[in-house]
Amino acid sequence: MDTLDPARLAEAEAWRARDLAVVWHPCTQMKEHPGTLPLVPIRRGRGAWLEGVDGRRYLDAVSSWWTNLFGHGEPRIAAAIAAQAHELEHVIYAGFSHAPGLALAEALVAKAPAGLERVFYGDNGSAAVEIALKMSFHSHANRGDAGRTRFIAIGNGYHGETLGALSMADIPLYRRVYAPLLLEPLFAPSPDAWEAEPGESAEACALRRAGELEALFAANEGQVCALILEPLVQCAGGMRMYHPAYLRRAREICDAHGAHLIADEIAVGFGRTGTLFACEQAGISPDFLCLSKGLTGGFLPMSAVLTTAAVYDAFLDDSRERAFLHSHSYTGNPLGCAAALASLAIFDSDDVLARNRGTAARMAELAAPLAQHPQVGEVRQTGMILAFELVANRRTRRPYPAADRRGLRAYRHAIERGVVLRPLGDILYWMPPYCVGEEELAHLSAVTASAIEEACRP
Ligand SMILES: *Cc1c(COP(=O)(O)O)cnc(C)c1O
Repeated sequence: MDTLDPARLAEAEAWRARDLAVVWHPCTQMKEHPGTLPLVPIRRGRGAWLEGVDGRRYLDAVSSWWTNLFGHGEPRIAAAIAAQAHELEHVIYAGFSHAPGLALAEALVAKAPAGLERVFYGDNGSAAVEIALKMSFHSHANRGDAGRTRFIAIGNGYHGETLGALSMADIPLYRRVYAPLLLEPLFAPSPDAWEAEPGESAEACALRRAGELEALFAANEGQVCALILEPLVQCAGGMRMYHPAYLRRAREICDAHGAHLIADEIAVGFGRTGTLFACEQAGISPDFLCLSKGLTGGFLPMSAVLTTAAVYDAFLDDSRERAFLHSHSYTGNPLGCAAALASLAIFDSDDVLARNRGTAARMAELAAPLAQHPQVGEVRQTGMILAFELVANRRTRRPYPAADRRGLRAYRHAIERGVVLRPLGDILYWMPPYCVGEEELAHLSAVTASAIEEACRP
């Protein structure tokens, strides 16, 4: 480790004390600060790196909770936001229109899977999920089918933290305590290939699970508004991955049973999985496409829900009640739209998807030796997402007791070596900004190897 300036170390220490006196951080047991978990004050971000107040640098291997696409401080996005801020920072979006909102809707419709022709803006991923759930129910009701009040969600899925979005999640750590408050969707078993039978291929597993999905629809005929799922990768559920055959069957099953398909691409959209949208790998179009996180390149909170003309048309009427009266104060925020437009322009100018293919291949090479580790149950990858599943027993895939907190050990080890490797339980993953280079990947894989050693020490 580089020699650090004592003045900067002291500044960081003072900062930590002030912060812990007033701030309540997300997804954190605050009692673990400052003892178990270090709080890391960050001064600035450049490219794949975060620069600490203490003078240390941290490789952002999780793209700041999967939001960042092209690196921190991407100058083209920063400039677009600054220019927009001088022109129009915000305007009420009911009854008013502005250039970045219009241009972004046109750009998203042009890039999205066929049939998605309308854009409704929200301000975060959970809001996008709420919008899609409400729109689906309401559009069925507007067509005289108000009996469709149930949703089908997927085991081990995650869709956000607000009560409706959390209702669709199947991660006990987040859901259990609020269960008395939540909607009760029907849960279909996850097509996750990790859960395949011995000898069963990922595709066979996906098709078997699709059969169970179909049975669930059949047992609840006429009651289901929509199926909601995360295409290809269940990110918060531990970067669990499944074969696109499931998506193709899910599309057919929703059609056969008169239900909508909601694709939550909040985490996997914008090139993460190898295609601009993950649905493309199955050749399907959902009825709703939820986008957020990378939408603005990681600069501003914003979301968008794309839907079909059929859904939109169901709301057109002389009655206000048949309209979609949902709103957020910052709907269509011009700064967010400008950031998103600048981000989409980078996809056009820089051939991002081709570069990502090369980076993903390099990630696979660097991870391959770790796949042999006796405590690594699986290394799996979809595009720019690569995960290591740590297990107590590789042959039986027996997990470590949760109380061991092996993943947390790996996290602490990595952060001390300048890498942000925030785990999901005992699953470590790489989801770096797309600008990540060879040297950075080499550093990442070396630190990951030693973090795995450290986490798995008896
Ligand atoms: C992060 C995430 C959300 C929630 O988005 P927020 O902006 O954090 O509310 C919803 N769905 C998926 C798949 C996500 O990964």
